Amino acid sequence: MADVIHPDQTYTVPGRSIFDNLFLVRDLLELGRRDGLSFALLSLDQEKAFDRVDHGYLLSTLRAFGFGPQFVSFLRVLYASAECLVRLNWTLTEPVSFGRGVRQGCPLSGQLYALAIEPFLCLLRRRLTGLVLREPELRLVLSAYADDVLLVVQDPGDLARVEACQAIFSAASSARVNWVKSSGLAVGGWRQVSSLPPALQTIRWSAGPLLYLGVYLSATHPSPPENWQNLEGGVIERIRKWTRLLRCLSLRGRALVLNQLVLSTLWYRLNTLAPAPGFLSHLRRLILEFFWSGLHWAPVGVLHLPLKEGGQDLKCLYTQVRVFRLQALQRLLYSAGSSTWSILAHAFLRRFHGLQYDRQLFYLCPRGFPRDLSGLPDFYQDLLRAWKLFSTTRSVAAIVGADLLTEPLLHNPQLCVQAAESRTVRQRLVLAGVTRVGDLLDYDRGDWLDPLTLARRMGLSSLRTPRRVLQEVEAALTPAARAYVSRALCEGAPRPSLTPGPPDLSIGPLPCRSQHTPHPFTASRLHELQPVGFQVASRQYLYTLTLHTLHARTLVSRPDTKWRDLLPPLEGEQPRWASLYSTLVPRPVGDISWRLLHGAVSTGVFLTRFTSLPENCPFCNVRETLAHVYLECARLQPLFRLLTNILLRFWLHFSPHLFIYSLPIRGPTKSRDLLVSLLLALAKTAIYKTRERRLAHEAFCDCEAVFRLSVHSRIRAEFLWAASTDSLDTFEERWALSGVLCSVTPSGSLRLTL
Ligand SMILES: [Zn+2]
Repeated sequence: MADVIHPDQTYTVPGRSIFDNLFLVRDLLELGRRDGLSFALLSLDQEKAFDRVDHGYLLSTLRAFGFGPQFVSFLRVLYASAECLVRLNWTLTEPVSFGRGVRQGCPLSGQLYALAIEPFLCLLRRRLTGLVLREPELRLVLSAYADDVLLVVQDPGDLARVEACQAIFSAASSARVNWVKSSGLAVGGWRQVSSLPPALQTIRWSAGPLLYLGVYLSATHPSPPENWQNLEGGVIERIRKWTRLLRCLSLRGRALVLNQLVLSTLWYRLNTLAPAPGFLSHLRRLILEFFWSGLHWAPVGVLHLPLKEGGQDLKCLYTQVRVFRLQALQRLLYSAGSSTWSILAHAFLRRFHGLQYDRQLFYLCPRGFPRDLSGLPDFYQDLLRAWKLFSTTRSVAAIVGADLLTEPLLHNPQLCVQAAESRTVRQRLVLAGVTRVGDLLDYDRGDWLDPLTLARRMGLSSLRTPRRVLQEVEAALTPAARAYVSRALCEGAPRPSLTPGPPDLSIGPLPCRSQHTPHPFTASRLHELQPVGFQVASRQYLYTLTLHTLHARTLVSRPDTKWRDLLPPLEGEQPRWASLYSTLVPRPVGDISWRLLHGAVSTGVFLTRFTSLPENCPFCNVRETLAHVYLECARLQPLFRLLTNILLRFWLHFSPHLFIYSLPIRGPTKSRDLLVSLLLALAKTAIYKTRERRLAHEAFCDCEAVFRLSVHSRIRAEFLWAASTDSLDTFEERWALSGVLCSVTPSGSLRLTL
């Protein structure tokens, strides 16, 4: 596909994405704003695009693109006898054959459509002038995503030519443009002429934002507020609807609702634009408020950790936005097709602080990097801020070609130029336009720049500094690099283009600068993360790295579970997070075990800080700490004796560690482990519930009895279900293990043995 479809069509072409289109238009409008360009964007609406493709036209297009006769005849077979049925009043009509349209839902239809519209786009590229830019040198005619064609028009005559092209395409393929639904955006001082063909006069022109592929883009605002206002409104509305159900939702359920139904609606626009100020923080507040229903029990960093590391897998807004920026940078540096938006992006980066660096900006050591990013478009400021969060290194400096000639002289850890460390020298070099190795070469003389010329360009009367700069740069180059430079000077090579090869960069965590000493059982994984090649860094790696970097402050000094400080450390004993929500455990019951591990449950010692409640245990009047409630209180003894007996019959030794941390669920003993993890979770829930009852002065506060009852009722419910679905065998395998809890009599009735 990539060989026959021009890079400006991104639909269904591997390696291209809808964001190539969005980034291009976003950056083009930004450039228009900065350079005072005047042009127009015209979005064409193809009427029922996919349904109108003529089959004869489609097959001849494929042949013209060089698809072999065999492939084309396959498609002919697929489409020759194509019939469709219409559903009418609950019945289906007789089959109707059709000669137009690519099949909806067919995995081929996307590619076929992209091929079908390509001749039209070729015609437009050939006939229209488009927008011609000088810096960067670029001619832009259109940007297409499937049938969504956006034209860039500067010469009003192009508009008339569009109609002519469309007429040719319609005659060939039976496609049709709906001019009334097409819309245009005038940028800068662009004015359309009145002598347009009548069809084009129906186009809606505006100076306000243009809704392009689902994102509002505007000629006057880098991030139109329309994008964020209605998103925020949508999020608030969704959260409000779910708030009514909050009491029935477990913490797991809340995280799922937030991830799948709320946060997922934000990603598309956040991937394209820098959000309005305050947008993310406001949404984060709403999300956390919903998750905790007002009472924030654990630091937010913990919630974002994966389930198996003790979190709730709630997506972090800030992390996700930074990952989007890093992924945009990966495309910018390594995208094979080198999409058009990257040319504009490089142009913005080159202008930054007069440094003339584009991808070289990402080689610089962050320490020397300009703090003030205001010269850049908001999106690229965001991108550089994300980049600066990490330790990013390049293995070696370039030794040949365009890479060497564009090698930075300033802040370059691979090419140390001491003289350029001074702020004033640096400023003078920037003013002189001497920031790269190639800028020091004088091709006319066939030698390095003469110190006198350099001094003049830097506005210096003394030759001392220019000489030092030249000497240091020459000395810093490797012998191979020096040899390349001499050869280039001999041959009088033309100035290289500014498109060096893909840089060999790696990304990893910054050394921890937190004043807090890391906890020996820290919840942070930052110290385990090894640097990886940026080109191949997976989205998952970037997410984990960013999450742990952004939340380092709360995670590093915090243990993975509160109980690390309460239980004596024992080799191999650790919280088994994955078992908390294992298949048999109901989610609300799993929530209590999870909260208990994080100390996110109320105790007398905790409550007395905020309320008038006494800090003593309502059962035994001892000071009520977390360990007291769940391990030490005398009332727990009957329950623990019962658990000890049950576990012995399962060949397990009951201990505080096993009780609090639960047990891993392993292959050979899986059914037993699942059952035991459920029993432990029900026991903790019984303790939790009976304590609440006691505080509310209710009856039935015996935790052992409540535990027995909850086990019995669960087994009975499972038995009734199994009996009614004729699956007593499965029931016995799962619940009647060694007859510890129950057994099924030969007559098929249930006998509870607990
Ligand atoms: Zn007590």
